[in-house]
Order: sequence, then structure tokens, then C-alpha cells
Amino acid sequence: SPITTLPDSSQTTTAPRESHFINLALTKTLPIPISGKGIELYLSDGRTIIDGCGGAAVSIIGHGNEEVALQTHKQGLQLAYAHPGAYTTTPAGELCQFLLDGNPHGFEKVFLCSSGSEATETTMKLAKQCAFEKGEPERMHYVSRWQAYHGSTMGAMSMSTNLARKEGFEGLGYPHVSHVSPPYAYQYQKSDETEDQYATRLIQELDDEFKRVGTQKVLMFTAETVGGATAGCITPPTGYFRGVRKLCDKYGILLHLDEVMCGVGRTGTFYAFEQEGIVPDIVTIGKGFGGGYAQIAAVLIHKKVVDVFRKNSKPFNHGHTYESHATACRAALAVQKIVRRDHLIERSAAMGKVLDAELRSQLAPCKSVGDIRGRGTFMAVEFVKCKDTKESFPPELRYGIQVQRFIHDLGVDVYPGAGTVDGIRGDHILIAPPYTVTEEQVRHICSVVRQAVLEMEAVYM
Ligand code: PLP
Repeated sequence: SPITTLPDSSQTTTAPRESHFINLALTKTLPIPISGKGIELYLSDGRTIIDGCGGAAVSIIGHGNEEVALQTHKQGLQLAYAHPGAYTTTPAGELCQFLLDGNPHGFEKVFLCSSGSEATETTMKLAKQCAFEKGEPERMHYVSRWQAYHGSTMGAMSMSTNLARKEGFEGLGYPHVSHVSPPYAYQYQKSDETEDQYATRLIQELDDEFKRVGTQKVLMFTAETVGGATAGCITPPTGYFRGVRKLCDKYGILLHLDEVMCGVGRTGTFYAFEQEGIVPDIVTIGKGFGGGYAQIAAVLIHKKVVDVFRKNSKPFNHGHTYESHATACRAALAVQKIVRRDHLIERSAAMGKVLDAELRSQLAPCKSVGDIRGRGTFMAVEFVKCKDTKESFPPELRYGIQVQRFIHDLGVDVYPGAGTVDGIRGDHILIAPPYTVTEEQVRHICSVVRQAVLEMEAVYM
């Protein structure tokens, strides 16, 4: 098969020079991954690492899938690129059709871009132009949540509240953004509050914020359906998103759900919002969409928004050279066809149940494990110094990051949490393996996590 003519990746065993990539300055002592197969990564020092987080919750079908590599290779030979302003290539058309077929949830149009950050930027501009076309130019303000990550470009960074990622950029970014509390029940639901009352309190806070800004001035509310890397898989209380939807509708504010991390089956349904009984006006997906085989993300736009542009016969005034890139679209389509054919979303739900149960039983003796939460193959473990008071470890200890490094030394990758809602809380790790993970691998990942946590506790507790 033509795939065998591709260059042998084992030739690239030398780490790039530190000066080439600014981020490598942080990781220069780590060996580099040479190849991968399924859930395993093979490092330049001969070690095998079990990928317990799919990179950054990206690899949903595992590494080294030959079907995807072959499809991508063939597309590259046939046509890698055509100007997206002039043409829709076959794979781009097929990928959009895959997403929109049968009109699921009323989405009518797709914008294909190269990253989650671009997807957020696109959504921000789309909302603004939508308001302009509607004759509401005074709408300039976005509301997002604390403990959120929506990307690292200027607009996306303004929407994000990952304090570590914003350090050094104070004063930069889009000025008209404010934030409300996320549904972070473990730390912030009051002990005498029911789930329903907690949801109502959060909705009230959002309503107050919309009113404070001026309901005619707010363009859009953006939230991760299940809060990802910064928050550590925080799931909304029942009724929260129904309340958010109602409020946005009341004031004509667009609802954008960022499912770059939690979408595409990660939580056990293609979109995480399907478990919330609502549909957003705009949803963004990335990461698992290309499964690590292509740098691709998508913005799906509801008919309600499309109709505004249609009415004025106006195109969306936006674009990128590499939007709808043909080989990226072919790779994403190949990944998604495998997901559908092999029922991998159902598998994500089933393996998620195993992961949840294993984490709870294996980490039961761990004194520093305060909370285990998440949905599907999207689980987080939050660490606290004291379970009774939920007091966190001192931030400078970077307990969660130390645990993650320890786990890596033991041959498993998990994702380090970087969250702080108030500069203090949010020490966690994230476990998000490929959906193809086996029960045995889940048990192994959890036992390594347990070993690392117990050894950390022996030192720090
Ligand atoms: N949105 C969410 C929820 C994310 O988790 C991320 C990345 O972690 C992004 C957006 C940004 O995506 P990217 O890193 O592809 O720009």
C-alpha cells in the first residue's frame, strides 16, 4: 500500500534544539514520542507510555490508525488544498454533510477552522455580525464563566479565565467581557442547598450580570457544557442549562456552548448538551473532531442565526487561508466514520462507567482525593489537603502537577489541571483516554494513579 512509502518516523529520534520551539524550553529533559499504536506511545528512551488522556483529550480512536493515515495520504495525493474562498473541496463538503445530515438540533451551517481558539474567535465575530445585521449594534459585551478555557488567541483569551494562562497579559484583550460563577458544586454548592437551589442561584447570578451590563448590550453567553481542563470536568446541576437557555431567549442573547474538549462523544453523546435537554445557538468542537490526525475544529451555527444573515443576503465577513483544508477534512471524516462504524461513542459511555467505578474504588483509601467527577471518558480527580474542610494544598506546592509527573514516571499520561477559580482551588488531574480503551487498561491507569497519589501522600500528609 502507498502508506509504506511514507518516511519512517523512527528517523526523528533527536529532540529538536531547544531554541527552535519556545515551549520546549519547559520540557527539554523529557524524551520525545517516536510513534504510537492504540493507547500506547513509544518514547525515544525506549519506554512505553499508556496515554490515559489522549494528549489533551484529543486522541479518541487511539494512535497509529492506518485507515485514517491512508485516507489522508490519498487525499494529499489527489488534492491537499484549494482556495476556500473560491471552492468547497469534496472532503470539506462531505464533512459538513456528516455533521448536518438529518438536521440534528437545527444546525444549518458549519465553519471549519484549524483550532479551538480559532473556533472561539469565529464565534465571537459571528455573534457580533449577527447583532449588527439585526440592527442591534449596541450589543458589544460577552459573558463567560470563571474556571473556563476557550483558547489562547486574543479574543479567546479574553473569554477565558485560566489565570495561569493569562499571567503576563494583564490589560490585553477584548475589553467588554465579564464572568460569572461556574457550576462547581464540590467547592461552591452550600451544604444546606439542594441541587435545584444551587442551579437557581447560578441562574440568578447570570441574570444579575446580564442586567448589570444591560440586557440590550450583551451579545452572547459562552460556557463549556462540561467544564474541561481548567475546571476539571465540572458537570452542571440538573436544570442549569435549561435555566441558561431560558434567560438567553428572554433577552435575545446568543448561547454558545464550547464543546472543543467535551464534545464529539467524550461524555457519552456526540454533543454533551444532548444530556442537558437544550440546544445552543452555536456550538464549537475541536480536539476529538480530528482525533489528533488533523488540526481541525468546527463552529456549528443554528438556523436561527443563519436566518439573520440570510434575510439580509449577507455572508459572514470572516475567513482563514487554511479553513476547510482538504486533507484535514478527509482525516476528520475518516476518524468520525470509524467512531460511527465501531460505535465508539457508546463505548466512551460504557468505558466511562468503568473508569468512574474504578477511580472510586481504587482511590478510596487516598486521603487527598476530595472529589471524583465527570461524564463518560472525561473524568477528573480533585486533590485537597483536608477532605472535611475541602481546604486546598498551597498553590506553590502544585500538588496536582506533581501527581501528574509522578504518574508519568510510572508510565501513564494524565492531563495536569491548571485550574484556579479564585487563585486557590482546583488542584486536579484529568483522565480522558481514547474511547477504544479496554477495561483492563482502565484498571491499569487507575492503579497507577492510586500508587502515585499514595506515594505523594506519604510525603505531604
Ligand atoms: N475550548 C476549550 C474548551 C478547550 O479545552 C480548548 C483547548 O484546550 C480550546 C477551546 C482551545 O483549543 P485549541 O488549543 O485547539 O486552540
